[in-house]
Amino acid sequence: MSTTLPTAHDDALLALRHRLDGTLALAGEPGYELATPWNVAVPMTPRAVVAAAGPDDVVETVRAANELGLRVAVQRTGHGAVATDGDDVVLVHTGRLDGVHVDPATRIARIGAGAVWQQVLDAAAPHGLAPLVGSAPHVGVAGFLTGGGIGPLVRTFGLSSDTVRAFDVVTGDGRLLHVTPDEHAELFWGLRGGKGTLGIVCAVELDLLPVAEIVGGALYFDGADAAAVLHAWRTWAPALPEHANTSVALLQLPPLPGVPPVLAGRLTVAVRFASVEDAGTCEALLAPMRAVATPILDAVGPIPHAAIGAVHADPVDPLPGHEDSSLLRELPAEAVDALLALAGPAVRSPQAVVELRLLGGALARPAAHTSAFCHRGAAFTLSVIGVLAPEIAAIVPGHAAEVVAALDPWSTGGRLPNFTATADPALLARCYDESTLAWLGTLAERHDPAGVLKVGQVVRG
Ligand SMILES: Cc1cc2nc3c(=O)[nH]c(=O)nc-3n(C[C@H](O)[C@H](O)[C@H](O)COP(=O)(O)OP(=O)(O)OC[C@H]3O[C@@H](n4cnc5c(N)ncnc54)[C@H](O)[C@@H]3O)c2cc1C
Repeated sequence: MSTTLPTAHDDALLALRHRLDGTLALAGEPGYELATPWNVAVPMTPRAVVAAAGPDDVVETVRAANELGLRVAVQRTGHGAVATDGDDVVLVHTGRLDGVHVDPATRIARIGAGAVWQQVLDAAAPHGLAPLVGSAPHVGVAGFLTGGGIGPLVRTFGLSSDTVRAFDVVTGDGRLLHVTPDEHAELFWGLRGGKGTLGIVCAVELDLLPVAEIVGGALYFDGADAAAVLHAWRTWAPALPEHANTSVALLQLPPLPGVPPVLAGRLTVAVRFASVEDAGTCEALLAPMRAVATPILDAVGPIPHAAIGAVHADPVDPLPGHEDSSLLRELPAEAVDALLALAGPAVRSPQAVVELRLLGGALARPAAHTSAFCHRGAAFTLSVIGVLAPEIAAIVPGHAAEVVAALDPWSTGGRLPNFTATADPALLARCYDESTLAWLGTLAERHDPAGVLKVGQVVRG
């Protein structure tokens, strides 16, 4: 929604600048560039950008928005950016809230909402501890956790947001609250899965795991072996014990720095693997996959847990991305054939990544505290990720939708919040069951009666 801000509000907005410890930038001013997201394909043109220096700046901004009839969006990295073009939208950037404190005695970390996961990995590792992270260590802590968080060790330790003990959050009515299973319990429930619906998180406390090393990485095969690899993976993967985690991806990586030359400019298949068991046990488990075809690159072995980003080797630098996704309840041979028909070696798929992740294990079990994260029972994620380079930008989204539709017969109908960066209510509804959706909407009205946070990836009644 784009509206024209009344002139009287200009002065009030600029007056907010003087109430902040951090900065407020209008378009063209230094600091406004923080609005540019990691996914540079997403247009972000808010009225102003507040680089919050502390939780009080977030409180001031939300209160000012209540007074002026503005809305407030939040961003750290922009990995999950949702288009924001409102002249009435102030974007809070959390990058300065990036303190990380690890208490080795209690194995608890207190983390500013603006930290990215690699900072937490690096702070925890010297103590032999680890946070339960996602595939890309450069995404923001709060954005990831408010979406639930599915990582390379999800089958072994479960959902990342289940490790959270407390949030400090600013609600839409401008209150800074400490939220735990016992204090403001309904917010503790809804912040884990509800993304930015119920507030702007300023800090998180979470449990760390005693994991210093893992066996992790990927076996890369030539694209010509895709059918053999995918059909073998679909029977091999679900039989793995819970300590072992895997995903498979059809990759078309560009010849860029950081991409091994042997993988660049061609179709390859990556079988990712991550386990907390010893190397010998993992070697035995991986043997059947290594025997399917000759890997063009075998990069699985013991690594420090802090290097877990190597398992998926997601891109680090900003790019114009497009993503579609779904959740599958099963992966029969027909589903693999359907995938290969649109993204295998016989066709020229425009997608950079077509990925299946094995779920189950600890994820499928109920957590100690219920949350707004749904769909724990799904068996696989399907993600289709394309780069909107000029020569293929027009066909990437349509082709991604075709791939997802081709696997619809085996879909649960659900989606994960972290793989649904959109403001489209119909798509967001698929992230939740009916009662969760209704309760999130009710809580949003209760804690944000003026609808200040009603922007971006939020659920409203
Ligand atoms: C390469 C790549 C790999 C990924 N891998 C995984 C993965 O393995 N597992 C997984 O679960 N997800 C994964 N994701 C999705 C990722 O977790 C989401 O995009 C997440 O939102 C990123 O958080 P951010 O803060 O970096 O992004 P941002 O774009 O800055 O934020 C995205 C959204 O998160 C919410 N949010 C951010 N900060 C706050 C806050 N302080 N308070 C309340 N809400 C907030 C808001 O809704 C915001 O619009 C991946 C994404 C990419 C691009």
